[in-house]
Amino acid sequence: MKRLLAHLDRFHVPFGVVLLATAIVCAVMVMEVDRLVFEAAVGRPLTRQASTIFAVSLVVALTLGWSTLDLVRRRAETARLRQARRHVLSAIGRGAITMAYQPIVDRAGVLKGFEALMRVRGPDGIGPPAALLADAALAGLDGPLTRAVLARVLADQDATLGQSVPITVNFSVRAIRDIDIDWLITTIAGRGLNIEVTEDAFFDDDPHILERLAMLRGAGSRLYLDDFGTGYSSLNHLVTMPIDVLKIDQSFVRQMDRSERHRNLCRAIIDLAETLDLDIVAEGIETQATFDQLVAFGCRGFQGYYIARPMSAAAAMGIIAQSAASAASGGMRTTSRNADSALETKPSARRTNRVSTNPTPGGMS
Ligand code: C2E
Ligand code: MG
Ligand code: MG
Repeated sequence: MKRLLAHLDRFHVPFGVVLLATAIVCAVMVMEVDRLVFEAAVGRPLTRQASTIFAVSLVVALTLGWSTLDLVRRRAETARLRQARRHVLSAIGRGAITMAYQPIVDRAGVLKGFEALMRVRGPDGIGPPAALLADAALAGLDGPLTRAVLARVLADQDATLGQSVPITVNFSVRAIRDIDIDWLITTIAGRGLNIEVTEDAFFDDDPHILERLAMLRGAGSRLYLDDFGTGYSSLNHLVTMPIDVLKIDQSFVRQMDRSERHRNLCRAIIDLAETLDLDIVAEGIETQATFDQLVAFGCRGFQGYYIARPMSAAAAMGIIAQSAASAASGGMRTTSRNADSALETKPSARRTNRVSTNPTPGGMS
């Protein structure tokens, strides 16, 4: 038994300690129960020796079963981790990371900027980022993945998009922690790149996260608080944290048409942002009714399928060009129908796409 436990301890010390304590308790309990049952059945006392042999064999069997299960579980975890690591590194290595850009407009339909959204090239075309993001988080590779995203965004800026229109890039907390901050500041400073983080950034144990966010902000990036309302931000965080823009979570916005409570919630968030002098963007706008309601509530930034779906850099370039032409000719609005929605591979997405930088159908000039 001692050798077995020593062997197990080589794998995991706390587990060995727990096992030893459990084994002793089990042995004593089994000896007692076993003695009582035997004595009740045969009407005479069980010998101490027989009881001990029985108890020890039971405990050995339990221990072996337990440790085998634990070993199998750990092997499976290691294999899953390796697979996740391979998935992310291979996607980065073969240049499978590409970006889609979704316009953000103001109430008049004027382009305010784009959110850069990761897409992954695979054998079946270009797909959403969820699986790769989950694997990167599991394997601790958020840093390298975000570097690949930034490299793609910079390349798209150089090749087509230019730097006249702000672009926001999504960052996980771990990416902010892991990426070399000097490199990050040099990379994004002066390039009109902003940062979107979710509320968990403000709850991380690492005090350097806030420091880093403040440094990025100091270098000229605006800080967007993504999916606002779904995390655990206290109102105090909104006052003390280095935030420029709140993004109302799309789960609230998408329910506005059918739920008065959600309409009220969105209005309250917009009022809160106004009171705290923060800019505000609503994401997930899918209908004109939602858009009109948000305009009436005083929202300043609008993003969602109703306005435009995420699109390729080339298509985004078309919208920037039209926006610039529109501004030059004195009209503030841009009229644009984006034919390139190829980055959205879901068939339903293609069917319903009515990409336009003008949220008012037919109302652009
Ligand atoms: P997010 O940052 O909140 O991005 C908005 C998501 O909602 C995007 O999904 C976008 O395609 C989708 N969306 C936009 N408008 C609408 C709408 O009107 N209706 C509906 N139903 N959906 C809409 P996507 O691209 O699949 O991204 C999902 C999430 O993955 C993002 O949520 C973000 O958290 C994360 N993500 C995307 N790209 C990156 C990245 O480069 N780095 C990191 N760390 N995370 C990323
Ligand atoms: Mg986002
Ligand atoms: Mg969001």
